[in-house]
Amino acid sequence: MNILISGAAGSGKSTVSREIIKVYDIPHISTGNMFRDAMRHETEVGLQAKSYIDRGMLVPDDIVVRMIKERLQQPDCQKGYLLDGFPRTLAQAVAFEDIAAEIKRPVELVLNLSVELDALIHRVVDRRVCENCKAIYNLEYMPPKIENTCDLCGSPLNHRSDDTLEQLVVRLKEYVFLTKPVLDYYMYKGLVKYVDATPAPDIVIASVLDILRSME
Ligand SMILES: [Zn+2]
Repeated sequence: MNILISGAAGSGKSTVSREIIKVYDIPHISTGNMFRDAMRHETEVGLQAKSYIDRGMLVPDDIVVRMIKERLQQPDCQKGYLLDGFPRTLAQAVAFEDIAAEIKRPVELVLNLSVELDALIHRVVDRRVCENCKAIYNLEYMPPKIENTCDLCGSPLNHRSDDTLEQLVVRLKEYVFLTKPVLDYYMYKGLVKYVDATPAPDIVIASVLDILRSME
């Protein structure tokens, strides 16, 4: 199945993604890891992207779209793909439409994980990460047994600098201005399924798998 997944920071997107790729045997492709792969393999588009990244500039849409095209033609995409963080803008979505049709990998489903704002604020602002083993805690929902100490390895917990209310507002603004138009575009095509990602992860995963099964 050819799936796009979207959701604001703190929506549990990576947990849900891990489950989908396991059940459907498809690759999880984020633009971040795709850039790193293409640069490491020094593909033509990879090198072009690198020239922008090295100068601290955003990679232009046409290069991003060509890179996606290259990636989706790899053998591991035979059964489909789970694209994460792309298309990021309406322009990318429109360009991707033609590419996806050309390589016969049209988008079949757009999963949007939405979290109530209040819950989102608590998830992000109360999140703490073990500086050693990267285990994730939440002061309200999943506190460590000993204050500020990882249950698993005993290392100190960190409050990541982008897990603040100010940074959350910045990300939410970007979400509203960039992602919302992309969602509206796919909504118009009848491809969007909204999932309430406010409940516990296993409940969210169960509702996502229900949606996927209903489409088989
Ligand atoms: Zn730890």
